[in-house]
Amino acid sequence: MNEVRLIYASKFASGVGPREVQDILDVSRENNERLGITGALCYAPGLFLQCLEGPREAVNDLYARIVADTRHTQITLLEFSTVEQRTFSQWTMSYVRAEDLTRDLLRRICGSDSFNPFAMTSQQALAFINVLAEGRQVLLRKSLKEE
Ligand code: FAD
Repeated sequence: MNEVRLIYASKFASGVGPREVQDILDVSRENNERLGITGALCYAPGLFLQCLEGPREAVNDLYARIVADTRHTQITLLEFSTVEQRTFSQWTMSYVRAEDLTRDLLRRICGSDSFNPFAMTSQQALAFINVLAEGRQVLLRKSLKEE
């Protein structure tokens, strides 16, 4: 099966805030499970960076729906490639607030103190996604130990 990873950045449409982001996450988790899609949504005030992973046709179809969504604008494709292994295989839609990321991390990956996915190269977007996934693995291992 042809599995792909797609990463894009976008800006909130006016009037969109935390409540709409929660609605998006709820729908995403439900739909993505059914579609066999996993990924992560990183959110900073006014900005999204999303990674979608799964079968090529399913990811393409979903991306077309997301592009048509009026809750965001300036949707900019950062990366699209075939993958051997998914980065976010355990999460139908992991959620990360950019304000929880350290300045050190942002400086290391983006070369700046602020989260600006529009300035990211394809390699920076991939590096960023890998760091998010590593952070999630640590949390998951911790919660499994505590169970
Ligand atoms: P419908 O709800 O019938 O949608 C019909 C159309 O209206 C679509 O174009 C949809 O994009 C748009 N739409 C739906 N609700 C609203 C609303 N409240 N305001 C404005 N337009 C709306 N969906 C997923 O399934 N998986 C994801 O990973 C995912 N990630 C997203 C990330 C972002 C940043 C955004 C903005 C949306 C995301 N969505 C995601 C939502 C996606 O765009 C669709 O709304 C959703 O998949 C349902 O689409 P539908 O055509 O089945 O249903």
